[in-house]
Amino acid sequence: RLAVKGLTRSYGGRTVVDDVSFSVEPGHITCLLGPSGCGKSTTLRMIAGVEMQDSGTIHVDGKLICDTHTRVPPEKRSIGLMFQDFALFPHLSVADNVAFGLKGRKAQKRSRVEELLARVDLARYIDAFPHALSGGEQQRVALARALAPRPRIMLMDEPFSGLDNRLRDGIRDETLSILKEEGTAVLLVTHEPEEAMRMADEIALMRAGKIVQFGAPYNVYNAPVDKAAAAFFSDIN
Ligand code: ATP
Ligand code: MG
Repeated sequence: RLAVKGLTRSYGGRTVVDDVSFSVEPGHITCLLGPSGCGKSTTLRMIAGVEMQDSGTIHVDGKLICDTHTRVPPEKRSIGLMFQDFALFPHLSVADNVAFGLKGRKAQKRSRVEELLARVDLARYIDAFPHALSGGEQQRVALARALAPRPRIMLMDEPFSGLDNRLRDGIRDETLSILKEEGTAVLLVTHEPEEAMRMADEIALMRAGKIVQFGAPYNVYNAPVDKAAAAFFSDIN
């Protein structure tokens, strides 16, 4: 379970993330939804630990990982990352890409890699190099790599937006169902209301650095908190 409370960050006197609080339950997908520039990626970067908040706290499964006194380094947060620019290492095989963040004996790592590649239906590519794979297949390798250390939390920043439409729906559904089966708490950033409506268990609607509404997609869509929220959803048909 991911819990953030009072997360705040300013750049040069401008507050871009403003007192943000929400939580994500294991096996749930929470969409951080809002227009470009509202502070979604900044929020994710603070949770990932690659950027420091000015104030606020972050807990993973009840454990404090960051406040103004404590700062658990990114690799010890049990957080996996998938970004749009999910680049695999081109000089490493698929197997070595997936094993990259794993510790332990060679044979152990190999069996975890085999298990994960079977999971994303790419076992046949275990010794191939990334350039031999399609964009969608590379995306699935990136998912296997992110899942390898068994993170409790997965942060995803528009990871599907680089894929063509035909591929996207399938990969998106498949990725998120694997994460659900693993019981991972998923925070998925998107600026597309359709994507949030389709994927989310809960939507956190963000505007100008603040969470303006939080709830099930059905409720956020049918009972928008204000006119701007209604307008944001009005393009969906
Ligand atoms: P998008 O949907 O376009 O990705 P976003 O919601 O992810 O937008 P952020 O990237 O979090 O938005 O940026 C929020 C605001 O903070 C923007 O106005 C951005 O210019 C500003 N910002 C982000 N990082 C920095 C930085 N390192 N220095 C100065 N301003 C920054
Ligand atoms: Mg962004």
